[in-house]
Amino acid sequence: TLHNNLQELRGNIRVYCRIRPVLPRETQNTTHLKVTPFDDTNGTQEIDVTKRSVHANSTTPQTFHFKFDKIFNTKDSNSDVFDEVGQLVQSALDGYNVCIFAYGQTGSGKTYTMLNPQDGIIPLTIVHIFDWTENLKERGWKYTITCQFIEIYNENIVDLLRNTESGEDTEQTKHDIRHNMETQRTTITNITTCELDCEATVNSVLKKASKLRSTASTKSNEHSSRSHSIFIVHLAGENSNTGERSEGTLNLIDLAGSERINVAHVDGERLRETQHINKSLSCLGDVIHALNDSSVNKRHIPFRNSKLTYLLQNSLTGNSKTLMFVNISSASNHVNETLNSLRFASKVN
Ligand code: ADP
Ligand code: MG
Repeated sequence: TLHNNLQELRGNIRVYCRIRPVLPRETQNTTHLKVTPFDDTNGTQEIDVTKRSVHANSTTPQTFHFKFDKIFNTKDSNSDVFDEVGQLVQSALDGYNVCIFAYGQTGSGKTYTMLNPQDGIIPLTIVHIFDWTENLKERGWKYTITCQFIEIYNENIVDLLRNTESGEDTEQTKHDIRHNMETQRTTITNITTCELDCEATVNSVLKKASKLRSTASTKSNEHSSRSHSIFIVHLAGENSNTGERSEGTLNLIDLAGSERINVAHVDGERLRETQHINKSLSCLGDVIHALNDSSVNKRHIPFRNSKLTYLLQNSLTGNSKTLMFVNISSASNHVNETLNSLRFASKVN
């Protein structure tokens, strides 16, 4: 279709915007967002954001305009979202390296989009992978599916599937990233890898990870909003009829909150966290922007400037497909962060 051809021309990076509804607990429920219907002729969708800035005695409304590959409105559900991303996820079975990011301020719906139990992208991906691989069996394909679940906090990798009972592997265990240039394979040292062989193991994997994330959150307030969490799935397939092999990776990433924290107002641990988040998110923006810009020499892309981009280097280049969600709130009191997020996202697009 025309839409698909346009996607090809625009490269393998797409940016979708998702607007979360105003929540019952939010009293200020005026909206400042206007979304136009999807335009088939150029394969994009537009959003207008109106900001009422108050200057002395007068209120001057200002309207800002943004364009995305697709916009999910407040009424679109997680399963509507999966209808759009399912095909992308599925291509990992054909040997693609797929990255899906959720970017946005804390409270904008990143975790809801990626990890909501039952219908978030991660739970639905796993359910569908089992179905898809079952269907591919008829054609001779057999897949080994393994996963890792990590966090990047203060530029350190934390293993969310580590065995906490043995007492051997602690939060302090060092994890290094190794790239094998020949095989294009990336490994993390000392990391727990789980085989996903049935839904029961999947549930226990997700439960374990969420338990470690919430243990951390009692130590530092809202820890999960200050770390990137990454669910990594390796899909290794072999066809017993033809001898073909396929190796794909899925990286599903719930990014740290993008809200601008004024470094002048924080110190100590909070200052360090803030600097690491600011640096890694802006580095991610630079990398995706460079990948999307055909005039940039691919050898000069600054992957090494952050742990996140260094880890994902092989998944963002070559046989890869990347999707970024920019999650925004429709509540008018968030308009400044909403504008910051939309500006970031349209810069990478
Ligand atoms: P973040 O991970 O970006 O900090 P959350 O995903 O935790 O944000 O979302 C904040 C709150 O908004 C949660 O209570 C979540 O259930 C709710 N929420 C987010 N997106 C939606 C949505 N599309 N529909 C309904 N509720 C949502
Ligand atoms: Mg979250």
